Amino acid sequence: AAAAPVAAKRRREMVPLVRLTNPGRLLWPEQGITKQGLADFYTEIADWILPHVAGRPLSLLRCPGGIAEQCFFQKHPWAGLEGAVRQVKVPDDDEPMLAVDDLAGLLQLVQASVLEIHPWGSTAERPLLPDRITFDLDPGDGVPWQRVVEAAFDVRLRLQKHDLQSFVKTTGGKGLHVVMPLQPGPDWDAVKRFAQMTAESMAAERPDRYVANMAKRVRQGRIYIDYVRNGMGATAVGAYSTRARAGAAVSTPLSWDEIGPGIRSNHFTVANLPKRLAYLERDPWDGFLSLQQHLPSAGTHADPAV
Ligand code: ATP
Ligand code: MN
Ligand code: MN
Repeated sequence: AAAAPVAAKRRREMVPLVRLTNPGRLLWPEQGITKQGLADFYTEIADWILPHVAGRPLSLLRCPGGIAEQCFFQKHPWAGLEGAVRQVKVPDDDEPMLAVDDLAGLLQLVQASVLEIHPWGSTAERPLLPDRITFDLDPGDGVPWQRVVEAAFDVRLRLQKHDLQSFVKTTGGKGLHVVMPLQPGPDWDAVKRFAQMTAESMAAERPDRYVANMAKRVRQGRIYIDYVRNGMGATAVGAYSTRARAGAAVSTPLSWDEIGPGIRSNHFTVANLPKRLAYLERDPWDGFLSLQQHLPSAGTHADPAV
């Protein structure tokens, strides 16, 4: 449920101070958004983002010189990283990964010029057991926005046939993400197989609209249903993470009755999202965190109607 809004300034006084170096550095020069501005943004929306990124291994896109300079992904500890960012051990990796638990951790990421937070689909505590599936809808060149919206509804409908509820968010880029919470249990292989089957059956049914194949050349005019986000170590950008792209867009959860022609993927931004959240009457992803749902049994998978 939506938390009572807490003024950014008041909240800043409630957390251990994270000292920002170069607070005036411009990260999104065209919008005039500085490092301090990003810290203020996360301070204001902390209750919204933390449930989606806290306690998970993270891939972090760092842009020390802002989006106009070079950015790079980092998932292992670097020198200078301080206490609020925790190191976590994950399978099949000799080096620890990173996780945050609270606003102090988020602000430590801001201090490191992290402009995108990409969590795993599992918690750091149970890295072998995914608890969410992400269908990443990637429109090829020339695909109208309305087709992307319809694709999200198509994924939703297909999941509903298994009594599975899903949720939609903008990516802050070009497409949409349909996210399905899952009660931890099945391993990554099972989850990826389910995601692949869903994508492939959609592509088989509507080959004019969908492809489930990674090869870029076949995407022209169609939407790639990228199910590959759902393996151990794979990530998708987190709900409420900013994007290191022009316009300072934020990956924003929407309710199913909001998505449509009026809200493109880059609609919500560092500048306008706090106001949306302050005035929302209910969480657009109401129920996401408490939903206890399970993959259909293996027998159902073979059903061509999947
Ligand atoms: P869009 O709507 O524009 O497609 P997106 O966030 O879905 O935005 P994709 O290119 O589809 O962008 O990538 C999906 C996800 O794959 C990213 O959110 C990210 O988590 C992951 N990813 C892509 N490239 C890398 C990379 N070089 N290193 C780590 N993760 C990556
Ligand atoms: Mn995508
Ligand atoms: Mn993709």
